[in-house]
Amino acid sequence: MSAPIVRRSPEHTADVVATFAVTPRMRRITVRADSMRGVEIRPAQDVELLLRDASGRRVKRRYTIRAARPDTGELDLDVLLHGGGPGAAWGAGVRPGEQVQFQGPRGKLQVRPADWHLLIGDESALPAIASISEALTGRAPALALIEVEDEGDELAVRGHVSWVHRRGAEPGTAELLCAALADRALPDGAGQAYLLGETRAMVALRAVVEDRGIAHDAVFVKGYWNRGRPDRLAGRSGSPELSPGSRRP
Ligand SMILES: Cc1cc2nc3c(=O)[nH]c(=O)nc-3n(C[C@H](O)[C@H](O)[C@H](O)COP(=O)(O)OP(=O)(O)OC[C@H]3O[C@@H](n4cnc5c(N)ncnc54)[C@H](O)[C@@H]3O)c2cc1C
Repeated sequence: MSAPIVRRSPEHTADVVATFAVTPRMRRITVRADSMRGVEIRPAQDVELLLRDASGRRVKRRYTIRAARPDTGELDLDVLLHGGGPGAAWGAGVRPGEQVQFQGPRGKLQVRPADWHLLIGDESALPAIASISEALTGRAPALALIEVEDEGDELAVRGHVSWVHRRGAEPGTAELLCAALADRALPDGAGQAYLLGETRAMVALRAVVEDRGIAHDAVFVKGYWNRGRPDRLAGRSGSPELSPGSRRP
């Protein structure tokens, strides 16, 4: 929680050392880079993988560092297998012994002190939500609302977790999470919220979160993907990152 924000974004070459099916739709890729030895990671920081799309064009895709082992330079990346985009295709097909380039670590999210914490997101944010909840020490409760396809996507997450199942509905809309939030009792005191997932859905949720009494400045919104369109192409950063208090994506 106390590691400093790294503003530069150095490039690394990593060896893929292991893969593991965390759930049927989430594959853990463990990479090792000597240049990551000794680098401490804050919760929900990510790396930007330098990949190629089906036409061979360079693209960048961001993945949360689910766990880091600075003694060995290893990072665990949990990749959602949601389709045939370059990120998901890499996650589905990569094998130990291959190499991957990435930049980072990146990410401005800071876990802030509060009376309680509310974590909301979809399955692309599961690695971030899990790592944030593990970093929340002390007595402030962590509540999580996580939208996934069904029980098969669920993972162990610390805190009071409500799973919201789409069961065939389109991913990346705000309706199910908004309804779940409306039904959810929230503690007294000053809460801090982290909204991580499809960009427009998370922006829509901000209004609902603020209606439930969480101060505007205590809401961190981060777009992780954009429904109906691929992440931006090489040379651009990923989705918008809204610090507490920001109003627009
Ligand atoms: C800071 C940050 C951290 C992230 N951490 C993770 C992580 O740990 N694990 C993870 O799996 N993802 C994570 N993401 C999200 C991931 O970067 C995006 O989902 C990315 O678009 C995947 O790239 P792709 O090449 O597979 O698909 P793209 O080429 O970007 O998109 C292809 C199609 O798939 C759709 N699509 C993209 N993402 C999703 C999705 N999640 N669910 C359903 N449809 C989708 C798009 O709308 C598009 O129609 C993170 C994003 C950010 C910004």
